[in-house]
Amino acid sequence: MLVSAKEMLNKAREGKYAVGQFNINNLEWTKAILLTAQENNSPVILGVSEGAGKYMCGYKTVVGMVNGMLEELNITVPVALHLDHGSFEGAKACIDAGFSSVMFDGSHYAIEENIAKTTELVGICNELGLSLEAEVGSIGGEEDGVVGAGECADPDECKAIADLGVTMLAAGIGNIHGKYPENWAGLSFETLAAVKEKVGDMPLVLHGGTGIPEDMIKKAISLGVAKINVNTECQLSFQEATRKYIEEGKDQQGKGFDPRKLLAPGFEAIKATVKEKMELFGSIGKA
Ligand SMILES: [Zn+2]
Repeated sequence: MLVSAKEMLNKAREGKYAVGQFNINNLEWTKAILLTAQENNSPVILGVSEGAGKYMCGYKTVVGMVNGMLEELNITVPVALHLDHGSFEGAKACIDAGFSSVMFDGSHYAIEENIAKTTELVGICNELGLSLEAEVGSIGGEEDGVVGAGECADPDECKAIADLGVTMLAAGIGNIHGKYPENWAGLSFETLAAVKEKVGDMPLVLHGGTGIPEDMIKKAISLGVAKINVNTECQLSFQEATRKYIEEGKDQQGKGFDPRKLLAPGFEAIKATVKEKMELFGSIGKA
């Protein structure tokens, strides 16, 4: 059964580790992430962007697929199904469809409107026992057409949003989505510490986990980050493994054209990446 992310993230914050959010795109992605979580006894959050939700034929299809896998694969570790960077309408649609967690990304609104919309969703999520992630200060790079500049969040605005009763808070600290540019300045730990000071025990979320150096990840966790989002890195490992399979001509040998064979190396590559991240985040054995 899907669970809210609240308990797993509070435990992570207390235990000084982080739970990975791995974004899903299809059956292979979902199966690879769920099996890796189970094999490593780790809690996990499956992220679904609005674009990926559309690609997978809508939120109801996603909920049906994930719930089916939890049962058929005997998944017993805590799993949250979470909308990533949701609009206000998207968050409501996911709640209706059966997601156990949603993110409302109101970072592009003026703070007053972000507060008003977040407040409404806090009410709905509390009533249904779902977890809610809010964002302050846009996260740089591009995600599903949403482009952010990578600003650092204002700690007072973070407190204003945290005080509304959200479960977790994504604050921009110089992190960006996708591959990091050569001249990237690194995470702003000064901002992170200032945000932590204002919001107290609230679990913090680090977006754009692909390519952040390991020591920075560990330092961020020590400063209150309890959820780290990984998306691009699984895409890159899937792509690399699939390319290798085809370049080696394996798709032309025997029944190598069978999609179950063609997609197998990419599937295994996602599993390896997810395990690597769970090790780095410290969530192994914490289910
Ligand atoms: Zn993000």
